[in-house]
Amino acid sequence: MRVGIFSNNVRRSLEVKAALTRRFLERHFIIDDENPEVVVTIGGDGTLLSAFHKYIDMLDKIRFVGVHTGHLGFYTDWRDDEIDDLVISLQSDNGQSVSYPLLDVFVTYKDSNKRDVFTALNEATIRRISSTMVTDVFIGGEFFERFRGDGLCVSTPTGSTAYNKSLGGAVVHPTLDVLQLTEVSSINNRVFRTLSSPMIIAPKDWITIEPEGAADFILTVDSDSYHKLKIKEIKFKISKKKIHFAKYRHTHFWHRVQTAFIGDEDAD
Ligand code: NAD
Repeated sequence: MRVGIFSNNVRRSLEVKAALTRRFLERHFIIDDENPEVVVTIGGDGTLLSAFHKYIDMLDKIRFVGVHTGHLGFYTDWRDDEIDDLVISLQSDNGQSVSYPLLDVFVTYKDSNKRDVFTALNEATIRRISSTMVTDVFIGGEFFERFRGDGLCVSTPTGSTAYNKSLGGAVVHPTLDVLQLTEVSSINNRVFRTLSSPMIIAPKDWITIEPEGAADFILTVDSDSYHKLKIKEIKFKISKKKIHFAKYRHTHFWHRVQTAFIGDEDAD
């Protein structure tokens, strides 16, 4: 098996990377960061997000495995003291995987014919910080509302526990093929009105936004941000691509949510 190892620069992660590399070589794995079949990330959810973007053009050929060197993450199942078990699981691998939906973001600009396409694992946001963002919002091509506020966030199911959750969005089970649209500080009064609730968008639909005026929008795609954009239109759709994780153990999704956000009642 060809394995790639992707680590953050935290000392503990680099130690785990060195130990894992030794184990792989002892057991005759091929370490190949250019053309891997399985990518093992070492760090946290942010590390997995970075690896996802590094291998974005090879998603159909790669399965990811996340090792966490901090607390249990949403994309990281293995503890850093379990690498021997991980190597044994990879040795008896028979290709089992679990796949989750991704978000495609199509951006067109006011001053050029340039078109950018991004793919997000967690979410994409469009924001304006200098003053109010005003944008028309369309669902499935039909006008829905005129939004005024700080911005909008479109998240994937696995991203629903990240920024989306901080915005009051629902936590979505990752086997559902849906997107979620949440507002960032909308203005609601007698004059201006938005739905003011998170919306779950069906797989056949897409979200379009056409922001008004200005040349100072900020687009974020997971950890990346793009500034001072003159945006004409952004379309958000469920991607045809999926992310695949090698599945050797199963952490029940709601158990993971409970551990991350509620924890042990007796712990404090
Ligand atoms: P980071 O690695 O410091 O991540 C920030 C936090 O988000 C970490 O605690 C991480 O574990 C957690 N996280 C990331 N993905 C998650 C997921 N799918 N479910 C639950 N928690 C998750 O910073 P980064 O590398 O810049 O990560 C980018 C992500 O951070 C963004 O995609 C966004 O979702 C999240 N974020 C959250 C907020 C917020 O909640 N207010 C603000 C900015 C960014």
